[in-house]
Amino acid sequence: MGSADLPKLLAIDDSELIHRLLRSRLASERLELHCAMSGRDGLRAARALKPDVVLLDVDLGDMDGFDVLVSLKDNPETQDIAVIFVSAGTDTASKVRGLDLGAVDFITKPFDIVELKARLRSALRVQHLIQMLAQRAQIDGLTGLWNRTYFDRRLNDEFSEAVRHGRPLSLVIVDIDSFKQTNDQYGHMFGDTVLERFAQILSSGRASDVASRYGGEEFGIILPNITATEAAEVAERYRAQLEALTWSDHPGLVVTGSFGVCDLDRLGSPMSVDRLFATADAALYRAKQEGRNRVVVAEPAVSRV
Ligand code: GH3
Ligand code: MG
Ligand code: MG
Repeated sequence: MGSADLPKLLAIDDSELIHRLLRSRLASERLELHCAMSGRDGLRAARALKPDVVLLDVDLGDMDGFDVLVSLKDNPETQDIAVIFVSAGTDTASKVRGLDLGAVDFITKPFDIVELKARLRSALRVQHLIQMLAQRAQIDGLTGLWNRTYFDRRLNDEFSEAVRHGRPLSLVIVDIDSFKQTNDQYGHMFGDTVLERFAQILSSGRASDVASRYGGEEFGIILPNITATEAAEVAERYRAQLEALTWSDHPGLVVTGSFGVCDLDRLGSPMSVDRLFATADAALYRAKQEGRNRVVVAEPAVSRV
């Protein structure tokens, strides 16, 4: 409660004394501290909690700390967690080994709490930058929407979730109408402005909706838990908002888009992400053919008996 955005630290150490020390000495830090007493528990906690930093003792009762480090780095779910390992004394070989295995830093036991805090702060700074870079790589530079890389992965994830739980899932795809002409007539810079303003419209949906720019003037919106009929209402609202935009440099100009909508119920079998996308795309193609500036919902699949 109230600590949702505090950085999480997971300490994996088989000494109760160390945990007590950390709990008291780190109590005033802006940190959420979690403790695990064994390698196995530590790995489980790391997967469940997704901590920002793990403080890992290399001398654990049940497992070698280096094996824990290898396991953390081998699992895509935990590989980006910054690991600071705690080594005994002056053993250079083990420090080198820990760093080579992917730890960001080490501290030697018995450790000075001031030094530990400084190393934690440094690890959290690095971690923050890594997370920012990872997120940037998924965001479209012009519009700030998710990019295609993210869209493809997220569509796969949402598809699997929806199928597993038998929940609805809709996909809307949009293509701005006659955009080449808009660019040719008013310039590429103005075209970019159009894309930015349309992206703002697409960002106004529910928090669970995933709006992305997956191509030049093509956008996709994933709408979990929503049927195609409901998604078509959302699309219609976006369509109307785009059409209603006014452009101060070009009074009278009207920019429009064509929308294709599909949900899982309209796919028939076998269901697949590719078919969901292709069916929404076919609906978009029909919207273009039928005169653009409209929303077309894919026909329900003909059920075979
Ligand atoms: P339609 O109604 O059939 O969709 O016609 P259209 O002109 O929109 O489609 P077409 O695919 O022929 O042209 C898309 C245009 O989008 C061409 C391309 O220059 C422009 N475009 C793609 N990416 C960007 C971008 O990032 N900025 C700008 N300004 N234009 C872009
Ligand atoms: Mg296009
Ligand atoms: Mg277009």
